[in-house]
Formats: sequence, C-alpha cells, structure tokens
Amino acid sequence: MKKLILFIFLGCLVVFYACSKDLEPNDKTAESYLEYKDSPGAELHPEYKDLSDSRKTKSDKSEANNGSVSPNAEKTVYLTFDDGPTSATTDILDTLHQFNAKATFFMLEPSMRESPEVVDKIVEQGHAVGLHGVTHDINHFYKSEQSALKEITTAQETLQQITGVRSNLIRTPYGSVPYLTKSYREVLNSNGFKLWDWNVDSRDWSLSSDQYLDTVIGQIEELVNAGVTPIILMHDKQNTAEHLSILLNYLSEHGFQTKKIEENTQPYNFNCYQRCHRISIQE
Ligand SMILES: [Zn+2]
Repeated sequence: MKKLILFIFLGCLVVFYACSKDLEPNDKTAESYLEYKDSPGAELHPEYKDLSDSRKTKSDKSEANNGSVSPNAEKTVYLTFDDGPTSATTDILDTLHQFNAKATFFMLEPSMRESPEVVDKIVEQGHAVGLHGVTHDINHFYKSEQSALKEITTAQETLQQITGVRSNLIRTPYGSVPYLTKSYREVLNSNGFKLWDWNVDSRDWSLSSDQYLDTVIGQIEELVNAGVTPIILMHDKQNTAEHLSILLNYLSEHGFQTKKIEENTQPYNFNCYQRCHRISIQE
C-alpha cells in the first residue's frame, strides 16, 4: 500500500513538473521579444519603430493609458503630427478642416520661431499643441535630465510667446524609449509635463506614396479589436499631407471620432521594462 501511495505521489510530481515546463515557452515569448527590442540592431530609429509596443503584452496596454483604453470605449482616435511646423503643415490643416478632424502637433522650437503664423493657425483651428524640444538631436536632448528639461521649457516659452498657450504636452525626440530613463521621467513629471508616445507608427518617414495608409489602417484595426484607443504617429511631411484625406475618409466611414489630446487626458507612454538606459557620449 505504501508503495502505491509513493508511486501516485511520484506520478503527481512528474505531471506537475511537466506542466510547469510547458508554461515556460509562453512566458518567454515576451522576454525574447524584449531582448530583441533591446538589441542594438533592433533600435533602427526609435521614433519610428514602435508599432509593436501596442502588441507586446496585455499589461502594457492596461497600464499605459487607463484614461482612454476601454473595451467599450467609443471609437476615438488621436492623430498626432511631429517635427513641425513645416511647409506641409498648412496642407495638413486644410485637410483636417475639410473633415472637421482634430489633431495634436508636437512642434520643434526653431520651426515655431520660423513659422509663427502657422503655429497660430494650428491653435486658431482648435488643435492641440505640444512640445518636441529644440535640437531633435539625441546627443543634445538626452545628454542630461537638465538638458532635456531645458529643451522642453525653451519650446514651451516660445509656443507661449507666439500663441499665448502654455502647453505641458510633450513628446521627446524618437520617443521615450530607450533614453528617457526613470530619472528623466521624474524630472519632466515633477515640472508638470505630460509625456506622450504612440501606439500606431505610420512609418510615414520611410514609406512612399500612400503605403503608410495601409500600415496605419492595419494597426488601427488591430488595436480597436483589442479595445485600445489608437494614437497615431505621423509627421509634418508633404507625402503625409497629400494622402491624409484617404485616412480621414477611412476613419469617418468606420465611425471614428478624431480628438485632440487634452492636458488632462491620461498620457500614454512606453514602458521602459529593461530597455531604458542613459545615453553615452559616443552614441
Ligand atoms: Zn521627431
């Protein structure tokens, strides 16, 4: 009898061991992915790489944007445009106006000084304005917590001088991962800034013609199926402007409402996991 009990006990141990082994590959999927993301070869151009941040893990989604993520949320979409104002911005504004769409522009300080009338127009047409720093140079912006803060506050002051709007919305150059470490985030946060990344990468910087629309629409559908509000990264580029109406048509036909980011909208930003690190001088 004792032998039988021992045999059953050992059998249970074997089954338990086998089951725990089975779990490992799933657990490691996310890790392997992060390892891939963390490898130097994967960091081709961080601002443009991160569509997969929205696909990565469920916890990332729920943690990232409590304010606008809900399975039953109305179909809201945030259009965001970086690196402006440029010569394409007026065309973008005209197209947005045709569709009565609202967007958020994360602007560079020197470009604002160059085209203050365009910055004014963005505000007059009811869009949100945010800050993207001064140099757009990784080595300058991320050199220290204070250099990042200085670029952002300089942009904030210029925007306020031009428009009278004091914005706390920021998007750091190339997105917050990997160089915006915890201490940088704390400094920006304690100065009242709201950090915004994205979960749809249009790749409009590299895709020619209207190809960027296919990638955007594909990602939107995936996010909406997962109950996540899309935040689309685009740029003030001529190609983006020329094909924007097709995207806005799609959004309109599929019942989406474009919204600008408000100061009190719960920010969405990338989770560092183990990916964030201070920039080195050589980089
Ligand atoms: Zn940028």
